[in-house]
Amino acid sequence: MDIEIDNVSKRFGTFTALNNVNLTVHPGELVALLGPSGSGKTTLLRIIAGMERPTSGRVLFGGQDLTGRSLRQRRVGFVFQHYALFRHMSVFENVAFGMRVKPRKQRPREKEIHERVMSLLSLVQLDPFAKRYPSQLSGGQRQRVALARALAIEPAVLLLDEPFGALDAKVRKELRRWLRELHDEMELTSLFVTHDQEEALELADRVVLMNNAVIEQVGTPQEVYDHPATSFAYEFLGHVNRFDCTVAEGKVAVCGGEIAVPAEGFNGDGKAIAYVRPHDIEIFNGAVMAGRPAVVRYLMAAGPVAKIELSFDDDGTFLEAEIGRAQLHALDLHVGQPVYVRARKARIFAAAGGMH
Ligand code: ADP
Ligand code: MG
Repeated sequence: MDIEIDNVSKRFGTFTALNNVNLTVHPGELVALLGPSGSGKTTLLRIIAGMERPTSGRVLFGGQDLTGRSLRQRRVGFVFQHYALFRHMSVFENVAFGMRVKPRKQRPREKEIHERVMSLLSLVQLDPFAKRYPSQLSGGQRQRVALARALAIEPAVLLLDEPFGALDAKVRKELRRWLRELHDEMELTSLFVTHDQEEALELADRVVLMNNAVIEQVGTPQEVYDHPATSFAYEFLGHVNRFDCTVAEGKVAVCGGEIAVPAEGFNGDGKAIAYVRPHDIEIFNGAVMAGRPAVVRYLMAAGPVAKIELSFDDDGTFLEAEIGRAQLHALDLHVGQPVYVRARKARIFAAAGGMH
């Protein structure tokens, strides 16, 4: 089922939490709403769920305007950031809840409820824990119960608000895989909110990047990572080095390299900001002298990619580089070593108030 967010704005008093947001989510998609805290992600999710009314604009489900309809009428399952399980109910009863509160005519029979709950619990591998209470489960297990409970009503749309936010890194990764599998298996259309760019890039079919009540960019993980549309997108997605620079005659000197600036979107020369990804920084030592002189300040060589912090000799500013293990070995780097660095490529944006 298509979900169409049509020109939605939301104001709380004089504060604008969403400003003319437009977005279409296609059937079967897994979409991440990604952005810093306060950017409007939860507000948008709650409006889609029908838990909040937009100040203006509409939300259409499969072409139908369901403004004013409840979660149940919309066939929406919701998983909250903090496991909102009923503490006085067993795992089984938590999952059964959505079916038990249905109007009598739609309510499944007890036998059906039992079968459905047990099959959902086995889906999230918690069937042996059906009789336990939430306090007897780990955080990751509780969030799996929350997921099973949201799925019990056979939703067409699954909405998740920072579902893994409170969990440790290893459990988060595990649950991500769960979510992806459940989404695919149950042919859901899902939206999940996160402020974690890695989570969004790894899990989603499309990423919706939000900032300050607006959508900055929508695209596949690769599109938004490789081609950030705005300077905000560049800084938010992945690690990046930022340099103030000046464009002259269509070129800019950045970090020991000279980069041609695309004519498009620029109008003349002037102040600009250059972004260079850590893996686009080349490091030379002794034998090759190219680029800008710098010193190695910090080395983090655990893992497949080595992270290196350097500072420039001339102005002392820091930058971050990433190189493969083999290259680290070949360069034989150590802290305090003088090297040269050069940007392989950079993305240039006009500085605010500069070129446009
Ligand atoms: P996010 O989920 O991206 O962190 P939210 O959607 O929760 O952001 O909030 C966006 C902004 O709207 C925040 O500045 C928040 O303080 C404000 N806001 C959210 N809900 C309310 C409310 N009920 N009343 C007043 N302000 C609110
Ligand atoms: Mg939020």
